Amino acid sequence: MKIEQRPDKLDVTAIVNKIKAVLPQDRQNIGLHEPYFGGQEWQYVKECLDTGWVSSVGKFVDLFEEKLAEFTGVKKAIAMSNGTSALHICLQLVGVQQNDEVLVPALTFIATANAVVYCGAVPHFVDSELKTLGIDAGKLKEYLAGITEVRNNECYNKYTGRRIKAVVPMHTFGHPVDLEAIAAVCREYNIELIEDAAESLGSYYNGKHTGNWGRVAAVSFNGNKVVTTGGGGAVLTNDEELGRLAKHLTTQAKVPHKWEFQHDMVGYNYRMPNINAALGCAQLEQLPEFLQKKRQLTRRYQEVFDQINGVDLFIEPKFATSNYWLQAILLAPEYAWQRDELLAASHEQHILMRPVWNLMYTLPMYQTCPKMDCSVAEDISRRLINLPSSVNLSGY
Ligand SMILES: *Cc1c(COP(=O)(O)O)cnc(C)c1O
Repeated sequence: MKIEQRPDKLDVTAIVNKIKAVLPQDRQNIGLHEPYFGGQEWQYVKECLDTGWVSSVGKFVDLFEEKLAEFTGVKKAIAMSNGTSALHICLQLVGVQQNDEVLVPALTFIATANAVVYCGAVPHFVDSELKTLGIDAGKLKEYLAGITEVRNNECYNKYTGRRIKAVVPMHTFGHPVDLEAIAAVCREYNIELIEDAAESLGSYYNGKHTGNWGRVAAVSFNGNKVVTTGGGGAVLTNDEELGRLAKHLTTQAKVPHKWEFQHDMVGYNYRMPNINAALGCAQLEQLPEFLQKKRQLTRRYQEVFDQINGVDLFIEPKFATSNYWLQAILLAPEYAWQRDELLAASHEQHILMRPVWNLMYTLPMYQTCPKMDCSVAEDISRRLINLPSSVNLSGY
């Protein structure tokens, strides 16, 4: 039990030792999130090499898309070169255009904001809530009431004159944002909802997999994600027409023909190679087991932090089942100043712990973008630390 009285100062060495005690004892270095290949990876990749199907066509791409759609419960999954390109395509698919504004959390990985700029649009940064670490729907609604006007059924920023076309909530470390609340704001203001589900494969909101709320969503299979294809991503959609368009856009918009090079729009080479999809197929087969292992690790960490006054393990919101992609702790506000001390102590023990991303509007290229008050994101960024979270840390 935690007692009310807190010490003046955290004992960072003792905390690192307690973390260390639940991690494998036979390892020199513990990374933040390492891939785990315990299934058919070798066999499937070998099959690509043996048959020569290593590039952008092959059975594993189709199979991976099928299995991914099945797992996430969407009608169509379109495999892509990475999660950032998937976000770029999502924004195009819902009609984000040059000089539009797109609402993006200030607390996210850089790709969310960059994808907006690839479309010639402007990111507009919004605050997070402590409950989910993602966009605060209530605060967003109030903010939009003050700064927007709806004309011709479209939402405009009164102050910049730009159309606000979309919002891209991100499921931080795999913890779903309050999707229903955000979807309600989107309906009220006629704003497209695009989930940045890069981190949330295997995470559910009210029993339904993330990526099912807007017309399109993006996932990532980067080397540090729950499931990896080496590098890769996907667009998820329940709109078959948009699914076809996504495939077309990501394959150079080539019109199918036996020999002619006909292209009917400016497309991209954003395909996922077959060899990466082969890895992905093997990884997806293990996903249920990975998710179980990650929850097991959560329980172990929970036991540690139940006994540390002033540090809390972040636990999934009530409406969610999270994949716990990255485990996170929050220092009590009065200990925020010791964040770097704790990071230094862990690095000294070769345990990789990390602070959260720098807030988007503090980065040089985004300093002049529009933003709301982001005091909660600022608070979170001062006192959140990610812990080693690989699936192989809980007893493989
Ligand atoms: C990983 C990630 C991406 C991008 O994925 P890549 O596959 O690395 O391009 C996008 N958004 C978030 C929040 C991510 O964590």
